[in-house]
Parts: sequence; structure tokens; C-alpha cells
Amino acid sequence: MDSLAVLMDEIDAEMRLTAGFTGRTELSPAVREAMFKVPRDSFVPEADKGLAYANRPLPIGHGQTISQPFIVALMTELLDPKKTDIVLEVGTGSGYEAAILAEIVEHVYTVEIVEELANRARQSLAGYVNVDVRLGDGNQGWPEYAPYDSIIVAAAAEEVPPALVAQLKIGGRMVLPVGKPFGDQDLMLVLKDRFGGISERSVLPVAFVPLRGPRWRRR
Ligand code: SAH
Repeated sequence: MDSLAVLMDEIDAEMRLTAGFTGRTELSPAVREAMFKVPRDSFVPEADKGLAYANRPLPIGHGQTISQPFIVALMTELLDPKKTDIVLEVGTGSGYEAAILAEIVEHVYTVEIVEELANRARQSLAGYVNVDVRLGDGNQGWPEYAPYDSIIVAAAAEEVPPALVAQLKIGGRMVLPVGKPFGDQDLMLVLKDRFGGISERSVLPVAFVPLRGPRWRRR
């Protein structure tokens, strides 16, 4: 079996193990297909290519990481992505999650705060006509294309950013880590009901890099 098939088996096992928390026992066909299709090694720096199909996060420079494949699969799954969806991602990083989503949905708008990572991700994502990468602070979302069917955040905020809630469609779903920087964090599922009300559910304890706030200075 090749390394991707082994990784997918591990993800399947982890899905079953965490089902009590996540409510999902397995990946849907669309998410599974995307995970098989997108070559994770294209999004991993040269030095770590040999670890591209290990089920672990890897450094991508600037103190940031490409998320663990299981977490990418789970977060994508929790969005219930549909062909016609317009999705906002905060924290482009390597661009891997954006590529997975782009295989499934209509369009992905993704915001990255570190210029070099945004540029590199644009190159890695050059084959995708349905992804746009913007350099900026994702706390503000990307108002021009709002509202979004779903929003995914790849860095942990201390609270759900209000601008993101505002940019979520009625009936929309948002998946994001919430908690202290390098402290206790929960992966949260946020739903906007048909009256515009919000419900939140904690899905799983996680460890993400912090979402940089408005006071963070670009170096
Ligand atoms: N989805 C990425 C994971 C990247 S890690 C992947 O598949 O590789 C989180 C990313 O969020 C980092 O690249 C970090 O620079 C970025 N980030 C942190 N704070 C941000 C903010 N306020 N706005 C946009 N991006 C941010």
C-alpha cells in the first residue's frame, strides 16, 4: 500500500475513535476523494517532503504549520461542503486546505496575514482557477464576496471573530479553533440558523497556532 493509502486508513481509524465527540464516523465520498486527489507533498517544504503523508502537522516557516491531515479531513467534513458552496478560509498557510476545498466546492476565498506564505500558496495553488488568495487580516474576513456558505479558520482565536459571524450565510456553518494561544483550545462548530441566531458546539480539543490579532505587526 502506498503512503497516502496508509494515511487514509489512519484518518479513517481516527474518525471512528473520535466519533463520540464529532458525531461523524466516516468521511463523506467527496472529502475522501479530495484527500486522495490533492498531493500533500506539493504543499510541504522540500526538507520535509518525506513526511508529507505522515499524520502530523509540519513546519512551513514563519512559525506556522500545515495542519495535521486528520484535522484537515475532519474540519472539511464538518463544513458539509457542497458543489455550489462559496467558502471563506482564514489562514491560507501552505494552501493545502484550500486545495482540498477547491476540489469540492465552487469557489474558495482564502486570507493569509504573512506575505511570503500568501505568495508561496498562490504558486502552489496555481492549478486551481477557483481559489483566490488575499494578503490581509482574516479577523476582518473578506467582505467583498460575503456572505459565505461556510467559513473555516486555521488558527485559534480567543473568541469567534464577529466579522466572520456577520459574513456567514443564513444556514451557514463555520469551523474554527477557539482558545488561548498555545493553551486549551476547542474545535468549534458554529451554525447560523434561519433567524440569524448562532449556536455553537465544541467538537474536539485541538492545538492550533494563534490567530494574530489587529495589534500584531507584520515583520
Ligand atoms: N490551512 C493551512 C494551515 C495554516 S496554519 C494549511 O493547510 O496549511 C495557520 C495560518 O494562519 C498561518 O499561515 C498564519 O500565518 C495564518 N494566520 C494567523 N493569523 C492570521 C490572521 N489574523 N489572518 C490571516 N491569516 C492568519
